[in-house]
Amino acid sequence: MSELVIKDLHVNVEDKEILKGLNLTVRQGEVNALMGPNGSGKSTLAYALMGHPSYEVTAGEVWFKGQNILELEPDERAHLGLFLAFQYPVAVPGVTVANFLRTAINAHRKAKDPEDKGISIPEFRRLLIEKMNTLKMDHSFAGRYLNDGFSGGEKKRAEILQLAALQPEIAILDETDSGLDIDALRIVSEGVNALRGPELGVLVITHYQRILNYIQPDHVHIMLDGLIVESGGPELALYLEENGYDAIRAKHNGVPA
Ligand code: ADP
Ligand code: MG
Repeated sequence: MSELVIKDLHVNVEDKEILKGLNLTVRQGEVNALMGPNGSGKSTLAYALMGHPSYEVTAGEVWFKGQNILELEPDERAHLGLFLAFQYPVAVPGVTVANFLRTAINAHRKAKDPEDKGISIPEFRRLLIEKMNTLKMDHSFAGRYLNDGFSGGEKKRAEILQLAALQPEIAILDETDSGLDIDALRIVSEGVNALRGPELGVLVITHYQRILNYIQPDHVHIMLDGLIVESGGPELALYLEENGYDAIRAKHNGVPA
């Protein structure tokens, strides 16, 4: 079983410390929800894990399959079996979803075995159809040009299909920034619910408090001001839904927000 182990992670953005010694483990086979108010540093964690150059890791380690992935390039992290949303270019003109996925699968195969000749067209087609059926996606989606006029929801669908096709051990899925929150969370949650199983570990990142309407996480982690302040089961999400982030804040700061 693989696990992603984040130890004492400190991350600066523009010389300001945003993550302040974060610890978190995500195991294969388990669905984790990372929840926290806007500005608590959730996306900073996702960007730092993906190796975005604007997010400067000043201390800490992130272990996955015996390697500290902070020492690896972003594509090496992906080839190792870590899926991070937006790990590929956002707009790819003239490339269909299917072509894009096939290229991504082949890049992973080649990273594992330089002699690999790539997935055959019939094998790829079988895989794609199986995954689109699992996700209850219209097959025409595979023929669309990637992100060309995609709505926020369609971008999320493409991301989930990519997750399904690449079959990573651990996936980190950050919510979109804008008002699409609930729609995006619904699409991501339906995808995760369809794909969840012993092979896949997931970290779903959201600030949306009523997450239990969409997904039943095995573990819930609450983040405040660059740190995970509480971890628990689904009951923690329920507590949050009833009491809000202010209650968590009051508990941890000793003062009402
Ligand atoms: P969340 O995803 O939990 O809403 P973020 O990680 O996006 O939180 O932001 C945490 C803090 O880091 C905020 O104060 C935000 O302004 C700052 N921050 C994040 N990314 C950037 C960036 N690229 N440039 C400047 N500040 C940033
Ligand atoms: Mg965010």
